[in-house]
Amino acid sequence: MEQSSNFIRTIIKQDLETGKRDHVITRFPPEPNGYLHIGHAKSIVINFGLADDFGGKTNLRFDDTNPLKEDQEYVDSIKEDVSWLGYEWDELHYASNYFDEMYDRAVLLINKGLAYVDDLSADEIREYRGTLTEPGKESPHRSRSAEENLDLFERMKKGEFADGSKVLRAKIDMASPNLNLRDPVLYRVSHATHHNTGDTWCIYPMYDFAHPLEDAIEGVTHSLCTTEFEDHRPLYEWVVRECEMDMQPQQIEFGRLNITNTVMSKRKLKQLVDEQHVDGWDDPRLPTISGMRRRGFTAEAIREFVKETGVSKGSGVVDSAMLDHFVREDLKLKAPRTMGVLRPLKLVITNYPEGEMEWLDAEINPENPEMGTRQIPFSREIYIEQEDFMEEPPKKYFRLFPGNEVRLKHAYFVKCEDFIKDEDGNVVEIHCTYDPRTKSGSDFNERKVKGTIHWVDATHAVPAEFRLYEPLILDSEEEDEEKTFLDYVNEKSLETLNGFIEPNLQNIDAQEKLQFFRHGYFNVDPKHSKPGKPVFNRIVSLKSSFRL
Ligand code: ATP
Ligand code: MG
Ligand code: MG
Repeated sequence: MEQSSNFIRTIIKQDLETGKRDHVITRFPPEPNGYLHIGHAKSIVINFGLADDFGGKTNLRFDDTNPLKEDQEYVDSIKEDVSWLGYEWDELHYASNYFDEMYDRAVLLINKGLAYVDDLSADEIREYRGTLTEPGKESPHRSRSAEENLDLFERMKKGEFADGSKVLRAKIDMASPNLNLRDPVLYRVSHATHHNTGDTWCIYPMYDFAHPLEDAIEGVTHSLCTTEFEDHRPLYEWVVRECEMDMQPQQIEFGRLNITNTVMSKRKLKQLVDEQHVDGWDDPRLPTISGMRRRGFTAEAIREFVKETGVSKGSGVVDSAMLDHFVREDLKLKAPRTMGVLRPLKLVITNYPEGEMEWLDAEINPENPEMGTRQIPFSREIYIEQEDFMEEPPKKYFRLFPGNEVRLKHAYFVKCEDFIKDEDGNVVEIHCTYDPRTKSGSDFNERKVKGTIHWVDATHAVPAEFRLYEPLILDSEEEDEEKTFLDYVNEKSLETLNGFIEPNLQNIDAQEKLQFFRHGYFNVDPKHSKPGKPVFNRIVSLKSSFRL
C-alpha cells in the first residue's frame, strides 16, 4: 500500500528522476541484543514500505558487531517478528559475515595514513577528545608509522593484547567541531565468543565504522536511520569514501517513535525482563512486537498506527490511545462478539422451570451480519457481573436493584425480587423473575427497560481467566534525578480475574480474538491458555476518548 508523502519519499523520487540512482535498496539493520519493539516497527514500515513503493528491495541485516550483548535467541525472535508484521526481506545478512572485508578496509586506511593503533585507555580517549567548546588533544601514538600500525593491528587480531589495551582509531581531526570526527575508534579488542563467528575474532569493529561498510557492501542506496545519527553522517561519508567503496549509500535520518507510559529502549526492556518486573520479553504489557502480539494487537493495526504517526525529522511522543484506536478499528468487523462474566454473581430466575433449559439465537457480530449467529444456553441459574447489581443504587443506575427490571442480552427481561447476603454482608445471590413474553427477537413492546446486561448460563459456563492491563509505566510528575524509570513501574499493571464464558468457547485456539460484550477486545493467551481452561488477555476496552 502506498504510504503518504514524506521527505524521504521526496528524496528517493528525486534520486530516481535525476538519474542519481536507477533502483532502490534499503535495509532494516537491528542489533540482535534484544527483542524488537514498536519503535522498530516504525523503521520496518518505513524501510520496507518505501522500497516496495519504488519497486525496490529491502534486506534484513543483523548488525551483530558486539558479541557480548548478542544472542541467537534475539536473531530468531527478530526474524519471526518481521515476518509476522507482514514483511518479506529480499536478502538476509549478518554484519559479522563481512568481518574479513572490514579488516581489509581498516588495513587500507592504515596504509593511507588514515588510521592508527592507540594505547590510550577508553577513559583517556574520552578525556583527550575535548568538548564542544574545547578542542581535543592528540594522542601520543597518533604519529605511529603505517608499518608499526600494520604490525600492531595484526597482533591485535592475533590476540596478543588484552581487552581495552589497544584500539584502532581513524586519523581525522582532533579539532573538528564535530566530536564524532575527533579520531573515532574503529576497532576494539574483545576476547568474546560471537554467536555467528565463534572465536575466530577477538577484535570487533565499532558501529560507526561497520555500518557504512555494511550498507556499501550490500549496495544499499538509502540508509535510513534515526536522528541521533545525524551528527555521525559526516563520519559515515568519510568511511565510505576513504575505504574506497564502490557504492556510496546515502544516510537519511528520521525521528524516533516514542509512546506515552512505556519504555522503548532495549536496554530498559531487558532490565524489566531480567529483574522479573514482567513475564519475559513477550509480556503483554511490553511494547515489544512479541508482547503486543501476545496481548492481541494485530500486525495490521500496528502497521496502520505506525503509518499514521508519519515520517518526519521530529520525534514527538505519541499517545498510546492512538494505538488502541487502530486495533479497535481492525477488530471491529473481524472479532466475534460473545459474553463473558469477569466478576461473577449468581442470579436465580425463580419462575423458570427447574431442570429445563433452552438455546437462544445470538448474532455473532451486529456490525458484520455475515458472521451469522451462534446458540447460547439459558436456564434457571445464570451468572451476571457483580457490578450489575446494587442494593442501594445511585441516580441513573439502570441495572439491577430491588424492584428494577433489565434486559438480559439475547434473552429476556428479568426483575429483581430479592437477594441473599453471606455472613460478611456480601451479596452472593440475586433472585429474579422473568417474563417469557419478552424474549429477544419477539415484538414485545408493552413496556421498556433502560438497562441491558450480559450473563452466562451457570450450568454450561466454562471457567476462564481474564487478564486486564494498565500502563506499565506511570506518569512522572516532574523530572527527578534521583529516580530511574524503575521507580515509575506500575505495580498494578496486571489484574487477574476468574470468571465464566459461553460454553462454545471452551476449546478456543491460542491467539483468537473476540469482543466480550461491554468489556472490550480480548486475545487468547498463547502461553498460558489450555483447552478447557482458556486465558484471555484484554487488548483494549471498548471506550475510547481518542479521535483521529
Ligand atoms: P534501542 O535504543 O531500542 O536499543 P536501537 O536503535 O539501538 O534501539 P537497533 O537494533 O539498532 O536498535 O535498531 C534497528 C533499527 O531500528 C535502527 O535503524 C533504529 O534506528 C530503528 N529504531 C530503533 N528504535 C526506534 C524508534 N523508537 N523509532 C524508530 N526507529 C527506531
Ligand atoms: Mg543501534
Ligand atoms: Mg540500542
